[in-house]
Amino acid sequence: MADNNLEKSFATLKQTIPLMLKHKIPAIPNNYALWYTYVSNESPELKNAIDYVLDNKMQFSKIKTKELYRNYLAEAEEVSAWELRQSVEAMLIELSQSLRDTRSETTSFKETMDTCVDDLTKVEKEGLSVIEVMALVRNLVENTQNIRRSTINFNAALKDAQNEIEALRGQLEQSQQEALYDALTGLCNRRYFDEELATQSLKPNLCLILVDLDYFKNINDNYGHLMGDLILKATAKKLQATCRDGAQAFRFGGEEFAIIVPNVNIAKARSMAESMRKAIEKIRVKDKRTGEILGDIAASFGVAELIKGMNPLALVEQADKQLYEAKRLGRNRVMPMM
Ligand code: GH3
Ligand code: MG
Ligand code: MG
Repeated sequence: MADNNLEKSFATLKQTIPLMLKHKIPAIPNNYALWYTYVSNESPELKNAIDYVLDNKMQFSKIKTKELYRNYLAEAEEVSAWELRQSVEAMLIELSQSLRDTRSETTSFKETMDTCVDDLTKVEKEGLSVIEVMALVRNLVENTQNIRRSTINFNAALKDAQNEIEALRGQLEQSQQEALYDALTGLCNRRYFDEELATQSLKPNLCLILVDLDYFKNINDNYGHLMGDLILKATAKKLQATCRDGAQAFRFGGEEFAIIVPNVNIAKARSMAESMRKAIEKIRVKDKRTGEILGDIAASFGVAELIKGMNPLALVEQADKQLYEAKRLGRNRVMPMM
């Protein structure tokens, strides 16, 4: 993540909290996301709506807040968690930097530290601690407060705190990483896919394979969701194992997967898809309750090649069109035919 992003979100955060306190907005994650977005001015419509309430000295009742949230932050659950993480990370960086500066400049350190600790404490008190990330921050607050109180071994304590902060940053980074992986299959997720495709599509000779399990709903209906999950896991494993030479498998959504295949033409990508199709046919999963072995699993494949100047979205559409053809022609096949 770029440093200026962090600085920006830190600056936004610093404005957000006092503003929420001023207007007596409970700092639950949803409100936080709302006001954070207001300050960052990412949504002009939201800004207008809030300004309207402020200008007319209306109350930010629970209902009003809910309405704003619903109307202007459609995917806000994700926004708030994501933005929050960014902000917290920004704070950690700032704290860590101040700690480093301390050795030469004790006063400015203390000032920065006081503000940071105050901000963090307010966030805490207002109830944001429900978010897992805030648990990490709580440690930090305690730690920094302890340092401020202690007069002996100040330097040693500082060094400990710095180590702790570095560790927290590491944990945060890891938790951000986790957000790129699909929890069920362990494959990279859709978000990762979008980023990766955008990067990869700058190079020539790129192919995309889209995979959709056939009649998967029936499997769920007949054997239960848990068995469905096991089959998704097994499929992911087969796809992964068939990936060669830089090809990368992703969970695209539900029972759909995508494989980005660099440095090949469509014939090569097609033959990779064919190997995957055969590998999926070989899947056997045991139903622990009945002892029954489940097989006959099949998937349809759509393959497309990136033509020079094509945008990544068009590549996905093209592969999806071929996948649809594979379904239409009876499933368990790779399209286009060569
Ligand atoms: P088609 O051959 O046309 O693709 O038929 P289908 O039944 O596979 O397609 P449909 O889109 O009707 O159903 C997909 C099913 O996949 C419905 C949904 O419940 C199931 N599904 C999506 N995600 C998961 C998951 O994570 N676990 C399980 N067990 N099922 C899932
Ligand atoms: Mg589907
Ligand atoms: Mg399907």
